[in-house]
Amino acid sequence: MKQTIDQLPLQQEIATVLKQLGIKESNPAYSTGLKWGGSNNKTTRDIYSPADGNLIATVNMATAKDYEQVITTAQEAFKTWRKVPAPKRGEIVRQVGEKLREHKEALGKLVSYEMGKILQEGLGEVQEMIDICDFAVGLSRQLHGFTMHSERPQHRMYEQYHPLGIVGVISAFNFPVAVWSWNAMLAAVCGDVIVWKPSEKTPLTAIACQHILREVLAENELPEGIFNLVIGDAEIGSLMSKDTRVPLVSATGSTRMGKKVGEAVGARLGRSLLELGGNNAIIVTENADLEMALRAIVFGAVGTCGQRCTSTRRIIVHDTVYDQLKERLLKVYDNLPIGHPLDSTTLVGPLIDKDAVNAFTNALQEVQQEGGTLLIGGEILSGENYKTGTYVTPAIVEAENHFEMVQEETFAPILYLIRYSGDVENAIELQNGVKQGLSSSIFSTNLLETEAFLSHWGSDCGIANVNIGTSGAEIGGAFGGEKDTGGGRESGSDAWRIYMRRQTNTINYSREMPLAQGIKFDIMD
Ligand code: NAD
Repeated sequence: MKQTIDQLPLQQEIATVLKQLGIKESNPAYSTGLKWGGSNNKTTRDIYSPADGNLIATVNMATAKDYEQVITTAQEAFKTWRKVPAPKRGEIVRQVGEKLREHKEALGKLVSYEMGKILQEGLGEVQEMIDICDFAVGLSRQLHGFTMHSERPQHRMYEQYHPLGIVGVISAFNFPVAVWSWNAMLAAVCGDVIVWKPSEKTPLTAIACQHILREVLAENELPEGIFNLVIGDAEIGSLMSKDTRVPLVSATGSTRMGKKVGEAVGARLGRSLLELGGNNAIIVTENADLEMALRAIVFGAVGTCGQRCTSTRRIIVHDTVYDQLKERLLKVYDNLPIGHPLDSTTLVGPLIDKDAVNAFTNALQEVQQEGGTLLIGGEILSGENYKTGTYVTPAIVEAENHFEMVQEETFAPILYLIRYSGDVENAIELQNGVKQGLSSSIFSTNLLETEAFLSHWGSDCGIANVNIGTSGAEIGGAFGGEKDTGGGRESGSDAWRIYMRRQTNTINYSREMPLAQGIKFDIMD
């Protein structure tokens, strides 16, 4: 039997979840840094659920002094952690994965309630964390360097990878825990210590993760400062970007934020890993399986209420199938179950806050002024089940690719329907004709079209899929995008390399001192 939200004593349920995750009081003031409750100031932020508007908790925001304490503790912990052999570090991450399995249901629920994504997606996010733990465990025995042949006799040359130090992680609200774990678990097996500044909109899930990690560290008698949390706003992120003690800053969020972080880190010649906004398109050619395309488009466009970096924002549809697809889409959109994210019948939850709702309605207004036609959606829902003002009906707009609003990423469920005719290359040109370059896909059963899309004159995005939508990546591949998306790669494949410093070593085991390139430099004595 399907359980609906009306059947759940919700407040009680959430209180149990918080308790299970180690967050003990029902409405506590949480602090930042190492010791909960120990913040140097008492500026607080109330955290309301976008689902029902209830106050979940009040969190103390970090000061610059708190940040200092965290960094100092992390520096100390690094001295111990870097000496733990990598496979042993992997064992700690394995235990983290086990604890996450134990708490999957509770943490998934909290993600859903604090951020507003539906429970299935909240659970999926925790599963992603578990998956990256498993990946990192294997990786801990495979941090390979290369060996190469020296041009000099009896010389050996190789490259090895060493830990970097402190890795700063700035994360966005829409994936409040998964993206941090992609960074943190890889960085941890690489021998780094992590300082995490989560989004100020979703600090509770971060606190919950921190409790889980602390348990594992304590059980293994390891310093607490290996995984650190500092809850603060953009200013704390900015401190981190300028801090030479943080060799790598991995920042996920808007392109606006990424440009600031990239500039600050670049100015001190540090490393940044930027995962920024997307403006993702699906091309539907005349050879597409329309039913498959439809499913992928709807999940991509309305999943997480359009608040994924990989959300489908544009569909570029061939003339010959345009009307048919449009009709099918309108039918599905007409029946979307919109509601409380913890209700199992819901497919579309709320937007994160009223600012997001305003961005949604403003974008719709502006695109219509530019000549776009709103086909469906765009309302703010009201009434007993929607009293937060954060529930909207996903919109479809017929538009042209060059419209200013179409060129922007509006972090809300707006799908732009764009028509193309002729060859697939015309569609590819439209798909590439935006500033961002995160995810892209094509629906076609024609090899000539799909291979053109994947070729070097095809999609210019970091992710290019065939007969799969733009969102819902697996952790095994490197994740990230080009152009305004920032160029970073994290998660699977060889993304781990950015968390380590590379060193080339040459060893002479002869009794001669030959120089490279045959240079003669005989000293007289
Ligand atoms: P945001 O840019 O408002 O905030 C993200 C984080 O950056 C927050 O922790 C915030 O406090 C911090 N921040 C903001 N200004 C800063 C500054 N000047 N210096 C340092 N830190 C600063 O983004 P958001 O609204 O939380 O998230 C939505 C955005 O994130 C969308 O653009 C989405 O596409 C993007 N995103 C990208 C990816 C990806 O992997 N490419 C993944 C998730 C989200």
